[in-house]
Amino acid sequence: MTEETKKATHFGEDVFGDEAIRTYLSKDTAKKLQATIREGRPLDPSIAGEVAHGIRHWAMDRGATHYTHWFLPMTGSTAEKHDSFLELKDGEPIMQFGGKNLVVGEPDASSFPSGGIRSTFEARGYTAWDPTSPAFIKRHSNGATLCIPTAFCAYTGESLDKKTPLLRSMQALDKSLKRLMKLFGRGEAHSACTLGAEQEYFLVDRKYWEKRPDLVLTGRTLFGAPSAKGQQLEDHYFGAIPDRVLSFMNDVERELWKLGIPAKTRHNEVAPAQFELAPQFEELNLASDHNMLVMDTLRSVAERHGFKCLLHEKPYAGVNGSGKHNNWSVAYGGRNLLDPGSDPHENAVFLTMLCAVIEAVDKHADLLRASVAGAGNDHRLGANEAPPAVISVYVGDQLAEVLDRIENPKGAKHEEKGSLKIGVDTLPAIPRDATDRNRTSPFAFTGNKFEFRAPGSSVCCSGPMTVLNTIVAEAVDRIANELEAAKVAGKAKPGEHTAAFHIALQKILQSSLKAHRRVVFNGNGYEADWPKEAAKRGLPDAPDTLSALAALSKKENIALFEKYGVMTERELESRHEIFLEEYAKKVRIEGACARDIASEMIFPAVKAEYLETARSYESANSVGVASGTSALHEELVELGAGLDALKSGIAKLDDALAHSDSAATLASMQSLRTTSDALEKKVADACWPLPKYRDMLFLY
Ligand code: ADP
Ligand code: MG
Repeated sequence: MTEETKKATHFGEDVFGDEAIRTYLSKDTAKKLQATIREGRPLDPSIAGEVAHGIRHWAMDRGATHYTHWFLPMTGSTAEKHDSFLELKDGEPIMQFGGKNLVVGEPDASSFPSGGIRSTFEARGYTAWDPTSPAFIKRHSNGATLCIPTAFCAYTGESLDKKTPLLRSMQALDKSLKRLMKLFGRGEAHSACTLGAEQEYFLVDRKYWEKRPDLVLTGRTLFGAPSAKGQQLEDHYFGAIPDRVLSFMNDVERELWKLGIPAKTRHNEVAPAQFELAPQFEELNLASDHNMLVMDTLRSVAERHGFKCLLHEKPYAGVNGSGKHNNWSVAYGGRNLLDPGSDPHENAVFLTMLCAVIEAVDKHADLLRASVAGAGNDHRLGANEAPPAVISVYVGDQLAEVLDRIENPKGAKHEEKGSLKIGVDTLPAIPRDATDRNRTSPFAFTGNKFEFRAPGSSVCCSGPMTVLNTIVAEAVDRIANELEAAKVAGKAKPGEHTAAFHIALQKILQSSLKAHRRVVFNGNGYEADWPKEAAKRGLPDAPDTLSALAALSKKENIALFEKYGVMTERELESRHEIFLEEYAKKVRIEGACARDIASEMIFPAVKAEYLETARSYESANSVGVASGTSALHEELVELGAGLDALKSGIAKLDDALAHSDSAATLASMQSLRTTSDALEKKVADACWPLPKYRDMLFLY
């Protein structure tokens, strides 16, 4: 890093990266550690002591007094339990951090969700350092903590976190890719999945948030009439960023840069008070950890600026929700395999990967859908501007034509100018710039990567990415099998791009497309006809979390995860249970919160307005004023009817809660909301107990 960059960004200052490794470790140990990190191997125990010693000194030089194993339990957030370096040795206080403290931790973690894997009598959980994600410093207002990214598993070795399956899926894809690339004649090289996670979020002034128990407890507004102005004018997207928000963003970026997170893009999003932050892409595991830190940082910096950062998928009804676009690709030996490339060989690899992804998504759309399921995302998928719940792939018109030519080589037109020649006639050329934009597709090819847009803003990237890696590993493997079989037939030597090789490849891709092309949809995903058309094509549509999660218990899906060593049947089963439970609990909390707000805040406010109106009506009548009494009477009748509706709505919601019926809870919450939102327009502004949409969305 140049001095100029260092001074401007302080990039990586709080990360135990290459520079710190060189400064705080001996040459020999530094070399060994760097190799461990590069190759993703476990740490050599013989250097653990020195590495721990070096990390402690580095951390203490940055003000740290404590350390923690930082991990991703199934709660969906990050977990940390701090220990100080301080120890008493023969009555003397010393600072101590040994190799063992670095490599494994043993948190008594019986309160984390395990879906039945770990019962309390065998409460031990283990955390193990993942050296591919570097240690970092987490600062707070008067101190700092050394954080060591770790995987979290049970005594029996079963995974209890979101990191372990991700690492296993990366390994699975690596293995498949190495096989395929060998058949293409490439020497063994490092393969890497890459991820750039665009993060959408809302900001709300803290003073409003404090007065909204729904935002405090559930992260979304359960009541609230629409603001007269919402996003109709489309004047917020990419608009000038207000100064207060910009200074918040600036602080966020400074903190992220220090943590080695390459925050790159910032802008206003479509809904009022909605924004986006996008980092430059990194290797998947690191990018996924970094996204967790991005969310943490957004939340903590917001506090300092008098904001609350809302990461919920749908904080406000009637305006856009927030997503987390997962831009994903795979590189081999440093070359992006989803980049069409400049010569026939690269072109052929690109087409193979493109077809593999299409095949994978079509075969396992149900799993991708399940990976983004959740109570929050249910309000977003299929709603305003969100990708529909049907999973389809967008490739753009130009690539669609290329796919046509693979499927029907005879019908191929002459190659147009400006396209790349592949050198043989069997595989079509690819247009140089195939980067059409389509914002309505849940899974879009965007020039040199796929953008999975269905994940919700609060989700941990590892879930959807674990599924994507695994299903692509399977498709790549299948294609490799067929290529190998073709070799047996003696048509092509592996690696030599003979015409025979290309003919075999063309046939394989052709049959793959014939079977899976139905998942490609280049039209407008928001059109009402699309779900009907999707049904005709046989594409699955799981409109909500409960129907989506059913995919996790299908035999063939269990077999897939087991085959690729990503999750055992028990691990998958436990996850299924955790997700179902989480969904039921979240709906229940929302229902209880809605009932409390309705009975403790909204009903009393409407009652006061009703009584006030009744008194006015009475006095107007008693002084014998005729004008105005009919308006007061009408108002009184409406408010009275509102009170009755609120009362019966609360009773219905209570009943649904008593029966632990999620669907009935959601339906009664919605109908209570409709009643309340209409009453919001009838009660004096000063007397309405909740901050309104127009305040929260526009006053910051
Ligand atoms: P848009 O909003 O137009 O989709 P952004 O610039 O906001 O685009 O985000 C695109 C994201 O895709 C960035 O995080 C970028 O680093 C990432 N990206 C670019 N190339 C790759 C790649 N090869 N693999 C993964 N992510 C990538
Ligand atoms: Mg963007």
